[in-house]
Amino acid sequence: MTLLTYIARAFRLRCPACGRAYITERPFQIRHHCPICRSVFKREPGFFVGAILANVVVTELIVLAVCFFSLLVLGVEYSRVLWLLFSLAVIFPVAFYHHSWSLWLTFDHLVEGLPKLKDMSDML
Ligand SMILES: [Zn+2]
Repeated sequence: MTLLTYIARAFRLRCPACGRAYITERPFQIRHHCPICRSVFKREPGFFVGAILANVVVTELIVLAVCFFSLLVLGVEYSRVLWLLFSLAVIFPVAFYHHSWSLWLTFDHLVEGLPKLKDMSDML
């Protein structure tokens, strides 16, 4: 399986292990595990910090890119750019919530593999 397969699964919010089920149960609710391959998405307390990290890093990169593009390429006035950046910094992390989880789960799966539910039966 290629890296592009995993990236495509992350963008489509699919399970990084099997690619057949969504990682979300409903908006802003990540499943505990994949209903098809039983890979655990919420493996331990604090695991969500990685998803928050992915969200913060991508948000900051987007804000920086928009800032530089607006100021240097478009030549927009700085005070107008600040309003745009503020709006972006508030809205983007909410809109990116599911994808930040997906990116974090894909990264974790590539590094050490997501555990299966039967392996974590002592935690349930
Ligand atoms: Zn799966």
